[in-house]
Amino acid sequence: MPDQVTIHWFRKDLRLMDNPALSSVQSAPHLLPIYILDIDRADDASIGEAGRWWLHHALVSLNSTLKGTLQCYRNSPLKVFEQLIQTYSIEKVVWNISYEPIESALDIAIQALLRMHHIEYETFNGTLLWSPECVQKLDGSPYKVFTPFYKKGCLGLPEPRAPIPQPKVFNLYASLTAKTTPEALDLCPRHAWHDKLQLHWVVSESAAHERLDDFIEHGLNDYKLGRNYPARDNVSRLSPYLRWGQISPHVLWHRMNDVMPSENVTHFCSELGWREFSYYQLHHHPDLNQNNLQSKFDSFPWSNDSNHLKAWQQGQTGIPMVDAGMRELWETGYMHNRSRMIVGSFLVKNLRIDWRLGMQWFWNTLVDADLANNSAGWQWIAGCGADAAPYFRIFNPVTQGQKFDPQGDYVRRFVPELALLPDQYLFSPWEAPALILKAAQVELGVDYPKPIVDLKISREKALSAFKSLKSSDAV
Ligand SMILES: Cc1cc2nc3c(=O)[nH]c(=O)nc-3n(C[C@H](O)[C@H](O)[C@H](O)COP(=O)(O)OP(=O)(O)OC[C@H]3O[C@@H](n4cnc5c(N)ncnc54)[C@H](O)[C@@H]3O)c2cc1C
Repeated sequence: MPDQVTIHWFRKDLRLMDNPALSSVQSAPHLLPIYILDIDRADDASIGEAGRWWLHHALVSLNSTLKGTLQCYRNSPLKVFEQLIQTYSIEKVVWNISYEPIESALDIAIQALLRMHHIEYETFNGTLLWSPECVQKLDGSPYKVFTPFYKKGCLGLPEPRAPIPQPKVFNLYASLTAKTTPEALDLCPRHAWHDKLQLHWVVSESAAHERLDDFIEHGLNDYKLGRNYPARDNVSRLSPYLRWGQISPHVLWHRMNDVMPSENVTHFCSELGWREFSYYQLHHHPDLNQNNLQSKFDSFPWSNDSNHLKAWQQGQTGIPMVDAGMRELWETGYMHNRSRMIVGSFLVKNLRIDWRLGMQWFWNTLVDADLANNSAGWQWIAGCGADAAPYFRIFNPVTQGQKFDPQGDYVRRFVPELALLPDQYLFSPWEAPALILKAAQVELGVDYPKPIVDLKISREKALSAFKSLKSSDAV
């Protein structure tokens, strides 16, 4: 007689606290926790390089919290469930929905398989504050603009449920058959780059909560203003934990309710709202990572110069604020939101490189690379998305630096070869007189690149490319 088990299928909910599916089966007599690395999608399309590193550590940490009982599989989920059905007498299967289109399709297939075998299953929402299908205009159509989406659509619905406490005990089922551990999934073969990431992140559920506590204590009180300054510690840096579900948005939302109301709290909640909006767009446009939401951009004359792309990726464009952002990404697997906008605008507008190439680089290098947020972020900065920054709004990386890195701390940290330049020339070293460059031990083209494009000329070229688009659109 095969062992009787209840299965919790971990997906992007690698946590015990506020895990609705897991809590629903906390009193099951034999709880088998599983994770499936989908072999059909275990390529760049489902998880980027930095994401694989994060996932590896998140699974190792989760397995240790579950006392080594997490059963991992490297196969197609459908095949894994067929195998589980052969091996065990399954009482029930539960999981939290992933709101990514391919995974939603997979859910339907798994549900059909379980139904065919008369196995009970239940799914939950542990990922979003408001399920996309619940948010709609009075006429039933989806929102296209963020503010009404959030203020009317989301805030008009009942408040997100309170977080579910972490279950005190589980009757975890320890399989006697040979078990695949997270390590055996071979998610992150040894790579020197990973050693760097290790310096910046503790990848565990408890680390996510510590980071939240720390942010509430030290960062939140000046969030609204301070979040614009990449050198300041006013953002939460919780994005990778949210992406992998080591902390839930419900926990964040309700912790904000517990602190004194302020414009900082309201603003932080609205940023969580942007995350909801990204998933909402992905729900309504499953091709968000491939196609321009505004189809007039389909004929945009991208330049796609591979040398320019390489210089951008390596933080060697000769534009200090852009290079600082790109090097922050390479050093830490994270980039501050202000810098994401600056480097994104520079790539798409000054270099006229297709936003999908920028998105791809972010996908592989960000530890928080998230299908919804990354695609929506790039469509937004390129101007081709829903409620996007207009194409003609081109960030000037020099004035952005002067305004948002006024003491130059951010640029000096990530572009140390310019550290001795006075603030006045730090963001535009090509304008510095020869004597000043010499005193700062900078020889342009030797110690630090000359700008790969002229900011003014490239801006004008971008604008005229955009105008040609509009006129050809009118034809
Ligand atoms: C080109 C581009 C690409 C991006 N790619 C990603 C990505 O792959 N993954 C990702 O999580 N975010 C992405 N973002 C959004 C944003 O930059 C990050 O969420 C944010 O910088 C994460 O840092 P934080 O956790 O300290 O943010 P905080 O300011 O502390 O915000 C808290 C949380 O709110 C959400 N949030 C904040 N800002 C945004 C935003 N603009 N859009 C959507 N959600 C937001 C995030 O979940 C974030 O963790 C991208 C933005 C741009 C412009």
